[in-house]
Amino acid sequence: MKLAQRVGRIQPSPTLAITAKANALRAEGRDIISFGAGEPDFDTPANIREAAIRSIRDGFTRYTPVGGIPELKDAIIEKLRRDNGLAYGRSEIVVSCGAKHVLYNLAQALFEEGDEVIVPSPYWVSYPDIVLLAGAAPVIFETREADGFKVTPDRLEEVITGQTKALILNSPSNPTGATYTFDELKAIADVIVKKDIVVISDEIYEKILYDGFPFSSIAMVGEAVKRRSVVVNGVSKAYAMTGWRIGYAAGPEDIVSAMTKIQSQNTSNPTSISQKAAVEALNGDQSAVGEMVEAFAQRRDYIVASLCGIAGISCFNPEGAFYVFPDVSALYGKTYKGSVITGSASFAEYLLDVANIAVVSGAAFGSDAHIRLSYATSMENIREGIERIGNAVKKLG
Ligand code: PMP
Ligand code: GLU
Repeated sequence: MKLAQRVGRIQPSPTLAITAKANALRAEGRDIISFGAGEPDFDTPANIREAAIRSIRDGFTRYTPVGGIPELKDAIIEKLRRDNGLAYGRSEIVVSCGAKHVLYNLAQALFEEGDEVIVPSPYWVSYPDIVLLAGAAPVIFETREADGFKVTPDRLEEVITGQTKALILNSPSNPTGATYTFDELKAIADVIVKKDIVVISDEIYEKILYDGFPFSSIAMVGEAVKRRSVVVNGVSKAYAMTGWRIGYAAGPEDIVSAMTKIQSQNTSNPTSISQKAAVEALNGDQSAVGEMVEAFAQRRDYIVASLCGIAGISCFNPEGAFYVFPDVSALYGKTYKGSVITGSASFAEYLLDVANIAVVSGAAFGSDAHIRLSYATSMENIREGIERIGNAVKKLG
């Protein structure tokens, strides 16, 4: 069958692919430790699960309003007010089936052929492909480790052209963990306003921050940038709710209304039961979030220190999210039994073959010098996994 050309323009999500591969190898009996999936290893807190069970018992099982139930929109409005000091009305909020779906609807609503969308690298794997599916061109903006993997305003201004429609910002970042301060965002906001482009602010890791780093959203800088901002967030990461598929956007009414119109012709609405669970996540007891973040913080400290202890690996210290993105390029050119490590994909393959360790190649995130490890896995797995990586590196000649 001749498929549409758009299918050939994109690749299957590499982060989901590595997870599927690790699971398949486990099913074959291999003792795989996976640092692949970016998914909290904790259960969804009990109060949230109970809210969902209650909604089933109450028969809350029908179609809902396309953009989300008013109760959930109000919980999101209250969250944005309480946590970020941002004011939105119901017509400026849309709820979708995960932040990935939000970004997809947003791209469909905003982008078309001829548009350029600035995607700073290292980037989350799905941004370029979501832009491509909308017919627009992702423009990869390479950030430097020396700049803390952050966009700087002067370099940003240089890459903006007459075709530039938007910038995608992700703070805390997947895969680097880099997180912008308010002042850094203010300087970027000045460029956004001056050049009159949209900023898509993916804040899905907002709650996962370390060492007291305060979270700032670019929309908090002021009204002029807020009018050009679409804030994207969801419950997957903060509340260990990846499978429930609830994400949301807050932004200008015309954009939100276009996203809602598109959603009415794709999923109709996000799942009724999950929406009730998300109300409880946002309005209910928040103590589980802090407990999870504390566990992630201990793991981060351990994984960064132990990776840095392996000769040939250097590791940026993430301020947020639950990934490390070590530079392993000093190992390229080394060999094992005659095969050469040529780059991040070949090193990831080597770790899987020789050490039963699943990681994602940095190339999937736009940086071939690195690999990504998710530390949303137990301390026991992390200890054993890093030891295996160290031993595998020692075998390279
Ligand atoms: N943005 C980033 C940066 C992510 O890492 C993820 C991970 N899944 C998402 C968005 C999408 O999250 P979800 O669809 O589960 O809400
Ligand atoms: N965002 C997570 C990751 O980067 C989950 C998988 C995905 O949606 O890409 O691993």
